[in-house]
Amino acid sequence: MAKKQFDFFIKNFEFSVFFERMIFSTFLFSFMFDIQFSSRLAPKSVSIIPIYAGDSRSELRQTLEHFSPPQKKAILQVLQSSRLPHKGHVPVYSAQALVLLFIIGKKTKTSRRDIRERGEEIFSLAKRYHLEELTIFSGSLSEENVRAFHEGIILGSYEFLQFKTKKNDNDSSKNLKKIVFFGAKNTQEHDWLQALENSTRLTKDLVNLPPMAANPSYVVSTAEKIAKKYKKVSIKIFEMKELEKLGFGGIVGVGKAGEEKPSLIILHYEGGKRGEAPIALIGKGVTYDTGGLNIKTMSMRTMKQDIAGAATVLGAFEALVLMGIQKNIIVVIPTAENAISEESYRPDDVLTMYNGKTVEVTNTDAEGRLLLADALSYTEKNWKPRMMLTIATLTGCCNYAVGHDITAILGNNKTLMETLKNSALAVDEPVWELPLHEQYKKYLKSNIADLVNSTKKFRAGTIEGGLFLENFVSSKMPWCHLDIASVAFGDVSEMATGRNVRLLIDFVKRF
Ligand SMILES: [Zn+2]
Repeated sequence: MAKKQFDFFIKNFEFSVFFERMIFSTFLFSFMFDIQFSSRLAPKSVSIIPIYAGDSRSELRQTLEHFSPPQKKAILQVLQSSRLPHKGHVPVYSAQALVLLFIIGKKTKTSRRDIRERGEEIFSLAKRYHLEELTIFSGSLSEENVRAFHEGIILGSYEFLQFKTKKNDNDSSKNLKKIVFFGAKNTQEHDWLQALENSTRLTKDLVNLPPMAANPSYVVSTAEKIAKKYKKVSIKIFEMKELEKLGFGGIVGVGKAGEEKPSLIILHYEGGKRGEAPIALIGKGVTYDTGGLNIKTMSMRTMKQDIAGAATVLGAFEALVLMGIQKNIIVVIPTAENAISEESYRPDDVLTMYNGKTVEVTNTDAEGRLLLADALSYTEKNWKPRMMLTIATLTGCCNYAVGHDITAILGNNKTLMETLKNSALAVDEPVWELPLHEQYKKYLKSNIADLVNSTKKFRAGTIEGGLFLENFVSSKMPWCHLDIASVAFGDVSEMATGRNVRLLIDFVKRF
């Protein structure tokens, strides 16, 4: 069936050609557009000036110095108009040039996060006006708000057009080619914005790609390309045979039904001192989750998002490498498809995990924790990291526990939890800690094995997932877990959000 679909796809969409192009666009470090910092006004460029509602001549005094007298006069006239909206944009034409006054809201009611989100609108504005080159004048905002606004512009510039035969809705041949952030050259911010653009695109692409394209071998080749691109990054991959030989019972059990067999990927970046224990970021890479033999009966659609943990660690990792962070980091990704075939693992099977513990499978849809459990014990034993972080779209219950704007966090170490919370505040990506509550551990007991992978009556599924994983980490090893099932994918937009890439970057920098 899968093969048939694939052939159909090739015939109708020239998949192979397009697949090559896709790989090309993702990996040749080709940026969507040129990002520059300059203190000279380019003649062809259209200017965008973010302002607060109610800003007047005095707030914009310095900014306006860079414009010609007729432009300045026209802008001031618009500013004095009583009909200026509190939010939105106003085009100002004068001296044959276009300036867009971009009103971000009332100063007292606009948070840094609001400003970042307003920045995300700039790209569609540029498209609407068919602009090829933009110059952003953010001088009237505070330093941290400038950064947030610029980040927003970069984050909002993402598009996923690989499967559209018509690339542009409004029939314009023009595309944004260059964004100039007006001001003195700021190498650090420039590098950060470029790393952010590159890494969130990598993360979102992996999640948005259909599962027939982003399959386990695609995750492997994505990691291999990162390893090839950077001198300080090396890679190790365990394939099916080795996984079986070395006793990765969880990964093999879950992944063996897939047309593509599972792999365990380890990317190693040595930016720190030689031999220093690394920070381990472990992401769940289920490329599609049918639920297995406990097939999803509600809806299976959008289950391509189960790759999001892997996609997030890969994106954050590449950004950290690009920024040349002086730490040792490993990314560990168990990747598999939770498919249905004659090889599927069954409910009632007992799996022997990498660390020797046995797990009675009570639900084949609770597969992510089986992959992560093996990855955790492998990483602790063989890499002796400073800490381990797992990130996964682990439990649907997360939607009920914390909702679509919050990442649930759990862990065995106070410092880690505090660091995560501080990072969340710093990047405006909220988290909420749930407890690894002692009294709930009994629900994971099995009659015939050490553990069950899913409980029957216990409803706090996100805590259950965390408690299960805790069995595969020794108590002295600092570990934290992020359940991103509710935030990785937009329910309304049905597109990847890229959420938690910035959080992980900030976290690694702090820890
Ligand atoms: Zn599942």
